[in-house]
Amino acid sequence: MRYAEVSVNSPVAQRRTFSYAIPPSLDIDVGQAVWVPFGDKLLQGIVLELKPQPEVEETREIAGVIEPRPLLSPAQVSLAQWISRHYLSPLFDAVALMLPPGFERRMVTFISAAPTPDDFDPSALNAETRQALELIKKQGKTSLRKLEKTLGKKKAQTVVSQLVSQGLAVKSYELERIKVKPKMVPYLRLEVTATKARQEAARLNQKGAKKQAALLEFLAQQTEPLPWAEVSKNINCGKAVADALVKKGLAGWEQVKVIREPISYQGITPSQPLAPTTAQRSALAAIKSSLDDGKDKVFLLRGVTGSGKTEVYLQALAEAVKRGKRGIVLVPEIALTPQTIARFAARFPHKVAVLHSKLSLGEQFDEWQRIRDGEFEVVIGPRSAVFAPQPDLGLIVIDEEHEWTYKQHEQSPRYHARDAALKLASACGATVVLGSATPDVESFYRAQRGDYQLLSLPERVTPRDGSALPRVEVVDLREELKAGNWSLFSRSLSEAMNRALAREEQVILFLNRRGASTFIQCRVCGLVLRCQRCQVPLTYHLAENSLVCHQCNYRTAVPQSCPRCQRRRIKFLGLGTQKLEQEVEYAFPTARRLRWDSDATRGKHSHDEILKKFHSHQADILIGTQMIAKGLDLPLVTLVGVVSADTALNLPDFRAGERTFQLLSQVAGRAGRGSRGGKVIIQTYAPEHYAIQAAAAHDYASFYEQEIDYRRQLHNPPFTRLAGLTYSHANDALCQREAERMRRVLKQEIESQGIADIELIGPAPAFIHRLRGRFRWQIILRGLKLSAFLSPIAFPPGWTVDIDPLGMV
Ligand code: ADP
Ligand code: ZN
Repeated sequence: MRYAEVSVNSPVAQRRTFSYAIPPSLDIDVGQAVWVPFGDKLLQGIVLELKPQPEVEETREIAGVIEPRPLLSPAQVSLAQWISRHYLSPLFDAVALMLPPGFERRMVTFISAAPTPDDFDPSALNAETRQALELIKKQGKTSLRKLEKTLGKKKAQTVVSQLVSQGLAVKSYELERIKVKPKMVPYLRLEVTATKARQEAARLNQKGAKKQAALLEFLAQQTEPLPWAEVSKNINCGKAVADALVKKGLAGWEQVKVIREPISYQGITPSQPLAPTTAQRSALAAIKSSLDDGKDKVFLLRGVTGSGKTEVYLQALAEAVKRGKRGIVLVPEIALTPQTIARFAARFPHKVAVLHSKLSLGEQFDEWQRIRDGEFEVVIGPRSAVFAPQPDLGLIVIDEEHEWTYKQHEQSPRYHARDAALKLASACGATVVLGSATPDVESFYRAQRGDYQLLSLPERVTPRDGSALPRVEVVDLREELKAGNWSLFSRSLSEAMNRALAREEQVILFLNRRGASTFIQCRVCGLVLRCQRCQVPLTYHLAENSLVCHQCNYRTAVPQSCPRCQRRRIKFLGLGTQKLEQEVEYAFPTARRLRWDSDATRGKHSHDEILKKFHSHQADILIGTQMIAKGLDLPLVTLVGVVSADTALNLPDFRAGERTFQLLSQVAGRAGRGSRGGKVIIQTYAPEHYAIQAAAAHDYASFYEQEIDYRRQLHNPPFTRLAGLTYSHANDALCQREAERMRRVLKQEIESQGIADIELIGPAPAFIHRLRGRFRWQIILRGLKLSAFLSPIAFPPGWTVDIDPLGMV
């Protein structure tokens, strides 16, 4: 007998597998989906390991195979095990990341007749059971549901269990099919000869039915039916006009099934690799030799926007394909990167799969199958695309590797796609390329240490103007106040805006709204009140009119005057994009404004629409949050104003400096992409801050040196790891008590195990103290082996554990 360790789809299964015996009749492989008895139920499971011996004495047998082909590759199985272990997530949740979309569908039970035994005596069965058996024999395999319909639910179940127990029938199980509706598109065709159509068109024209005439004339020119969308674009007429022709018997509709393409290739022409620059060539050479070795080497490709990183990805992927391998490309936010996707589609025509959540379940399922069948050379998608069933994986590219969207924090498993990609690559010998203009400090540290190989593209390749990076001016808002300017726009910014508008150029105003209005600052000297112990800015709590440290729960009253300059101009700084838009309207009344933030982009296409509108110069000033910092190419933009750099800088998070540097660098990259050059103005109360200084000088190295020093001093990642434990409950006091109880439990564990390296911080109210009607308290752990330490701890419902958290949540 052989045994299988199975991850079972049940909430009680948690982080463990269960042992099942493999009946001799079944062929079982690692990664295969099976039905297993679990309590009195039959559940889905995935085989993670095969063993000669079970883990427990008594085992039950695997009941059946859901699909003969394994759903997970061996590398994916080890990735799932790592995710569950590292992020402390239920094992099946980790496995489910890699299953086909809609896998957890309803199970359908089938009944089929078994060969009749020789000594079978039909008279031993009652009439009903005999009838049912005849029915099953006649139909071959019948679903239990169908039998229930004919016999009634109760009766069908009794009859079936009798037949099964007597060996006269057997049960089997399958997943309910996903119905993928084929996409139908209306085509319009001519029902008469072209000559007749032209005569009719002339008649209609005389009668004044100009549109019908034009349409008919157009159809007469065609040799075959055309999609209606194309016809209506050409003739510019509504459907009613076509219907009128159909009614007259001159034209007819037909529905044509279209093959779903993940990307619309309309307007995309295949592209050839560009002759690489010297820097690109040496980067590619290094990647190529790693592809040849088939080792899990990691590269950090650093280069500003426009330095040719994407071209390196494209050529590296082509090299992987040449070696019989395939690739996965992760992008931070699929909705924002249509231009990037078009470039991949042009280089690998019809060989690119794009995964995104706007596909219907059926479409996702289809796409998953096609990927697994090896139809695509490249799979592109957001963080979850790292789990795509791409066979022969040779290269994983993570574009903008520093982006926080790669971390899933809203739900379990709270994985980071970059770390998952590294694990996957090491399990299957794939090469990884991490690309960024502003690498994550932790990634850069690893590159410095030699864990990753650093590849640099030091300058922009664009042929347009040799394109220097834009000039950056930092405006000290304290000086503005001294000069009596209390508006949102410094003198420098408003002059520059007026100049740009007068020249009919475009302006982007950037505001990082997250976290705004929670910190307080002296408007004279710029002092931000911070926790003495943790150095993070204190957060204002309206309800109790006090300042709170969200790491250690230190509390203090709001001072009347500034502790540094003694002036009574302590202010809550709160500013949103809507408020900014009003101020722009007031100060620049004739400029056409466009607002781009998550409120303005709820619809399906609105990212694209806003972008198109701005691109075609239907607006002069674009006002937006961090979204506008993403990879757009807008040649008419000559001025980018950062209205306040301080909102990002003053988040109560040790990564605030890094975040600010990244955002400012990206925003600065927006200006001056055209031949007119560009300018960036950053407004701040902290002009001397190293993150702002370094961003203004386009100097990653000096930012990194300072930042990594602080990380070392304050003992933050990459020198340690963090875990965020959050408890939420409708009652704030109870929430606090439970968090304190948990702290005691953890403290005791640390002491009894004699662990020196784990530090407990908090409990404190979470940065988002109240979310959807529930209060949240948080404990932060700092230390190197947090997963192993936390693994045996029992967390009651209401707790979430976030290993390697990003940002304050
Ligand atoms: P990044 O991904 O770093 O922003 P891209 O790969 O998009 O950079 O390159 C920026 C621009 O330069 C693009 O228009 C691209 O087509 C062009 N480009 C990149 N590499 C080359 C090259 N070797 N020769 C000519 N043009 C190039
Ligand atoms: Zn503190």
